[in-house]
Amino acid sequence: MKSTYYFMMYFIFCSFSIGAQIVYGTNGYIEYHPGDLPIVISVPHGGSLEPISIPDRTCNSPVMVTDANTIDLGKQIDSSLFSLTGCHPHMIYCNLKRSKLDCNRNENDGTCGNAEAITSWNEFQKYIDSAQNLALQQHGEKVFYIDLHGHGNPIQRLELGYLLFEEELEFSDATLNSTQYINYSSIQHLVYNNINGSPHTELLKGNFALGTLFANNGYPAVPSLQDPFPGIGSNYFSGGYNTAQNTSYAIGNLVDGVQMECNFIGVRDSYLNRKLFSDVFATVLNGYFNSHMSTQINDQCGVSGLNEIKTQNSLYPTISNGIGPIMISGNNFSGQQFIVKDLFGKTFFSGEIQQDNSFTAPATISNGWYVLNFTENGNLRNYRFCIIRD
Ligand SMILES: [Zn+2]
Repeated sequence: MKSTYYFMMYFIFCSFSIGAQIVYGTNGYIEYHPGDLPIVISVPHGGSLEPISIPDRTCNSPVMVTDANTIDLGKQIDSSLFSLTGCHPHMIYCNLKRSKLDCNRNENDGTCGNAEAITSWNEFQKYIDSAQNLALQQHGEKVFYIDLHGHGNPIQRLELGYLLFEEELEFSDATLNSTQYINYSSIQHLVYNNINGSPHTELLKGNFALGTLFANNGYPAVPSLQDPFPGIGSNYFSGGYNTAQNTSYAIGNLVDGVQMECNFIGVRDSYLNRKLFSDVFATVLNGYFNSHMSTQINDQCGVSGLNEIKTQNSLYPTISNGIGPIMISGNNFSGQQFIVKDLFGKTFFSGEIQQDNSFTAPATISNGWYVLNFTENGNLRNYRFCIIRD
């Protein structure tokens, strides 16, 4: 279903550490900012665009509330992660107002059948997919996904949704640690793969649970050690469509994740508070990776030899319906021998740069990050690029 609206293959150059080229969906309604951290963040409910060509949603009792300032919050989180690590997370934004498209519902409920909305809905999901695949290739199984929201509940605390309902979070540790309840969880891959062998409940509300780390840093969160369950009737958000589709809850997905519902006061309400929160967010995520996955979050994005940032010379995308040539702009390198390696240094293919300053990837190339090596004025040049296609 997801690929129905995708027939185009595109290449994008992802520059190193200076912010990648933004990929825009149709009409700019969806944006994907490719990154190089093992963190993928989607922001489905912060948009404000109201094109008249898309009618307001009326089907299936739609929720229309915008999650105020969550796009600004996402951008600040991106910026704070970059300040901490020198690398960017993958960010996916929906710029359409929720009254036009809900990117955290299934296709029918989210679009009410409008063709333009369906295109954007598919692009949003496809970009999350692409981002997760790129991050998995770059970082192995240590990738974390956050579906970022804002809630209007009166208790000012972060609500972390692991797909467990409020009453389930009150169950005994034995129950929550049973296979049945692990199988309901959006962090089930981490339960079986964390370095300390921490059980499910420890990851939900233990000393180094995500909520606990936020609470320790001045941002109350539920579930956490300090606040282990939200309380029946609290309208707690346990996680929605995106969390179910794009985490290890979905069979075969190796990415763990959570729906993060941010309270307004002190988190989203002003530039200063968004900045303060985002700086803590970056530190907390780094601590979370260290605690459970034994890695720095920028562990792979700063691989030495890749910091040849393009300044005058760029690799630009070539859009085609098949395997197309990848154009190099700037200086002419035609006739130069090149090697394309994967991020681990293994040669993937090699050849000669063509007369028109392009090279062509083999038909078997899969989505992911690659490094193009060639010699320029006696110096070895390394350019990193990524390929995303359908
Ligand atoms: Zn929301």
